[in-house]
Amino acid sequence: MMKNLLLTIFCLLTSLGYAQDVQIDGRLQPYLNDFLEICKTYNIEYHEKLFQLESIDIVSTLPVSEESSTLGMLRRDIEGNVKGIDINWVVQLDQEILKVVAFHEFAHYFLEYSTHVCDDCGIIMSVVNTSYFEIVSDWDNQIKTLFEESPAYIKKYGSSVSVVPMR
Ligand SMILES: [Zn+2]
Repeated sequence: MMKNLLLTIFCLLTSLGYAQDVQIDGRLQPYLNDFLEICKTYNIEYHEKLFQLESIDIVSTLPVSEESSTLGMLRRDIEGNVKGIDINWVVQLDQEILKVVAFHEFAHYFLEYSTHVCDDCGIIMSVVNTSYFEIVSDWDNQIKTLFEESPAYIKKYGSSVSVVPMR
């Protein structure tokens, strides 16, 4: 009993320790909360991935130009492990674009999208999006597609079986 209690306290302390190590920009926190809440309803595990990160941040180091801009990216160490999720500061000029870009990057990491679904087909996992407005105005369907067609979901449930997520 005592041992269990000690173990529990130890686990609690360790998880708190980890939690404090992930630096999350306050401007991204509400989107991250929403995203992880949806992971929960689909039973997609995210704790371990979250605590492997150093930061989820709005940065001014990503390129912005007329020809090509990087709106967000996963930051990796030399071994290729993801250490952070960086979102370009320009994106926060529009809250709806910020939301789509944040969900796009979160999905690369937490839902294990290692590639994009298409070049510009009006979904969150397109390479680029001509209209962020259309995505946001069809948000619930967009989220359904994003989660139910994700590698993490298919790994867990398979692609041919339709599973009603737990609420
Ligand atoms: Zn991407």
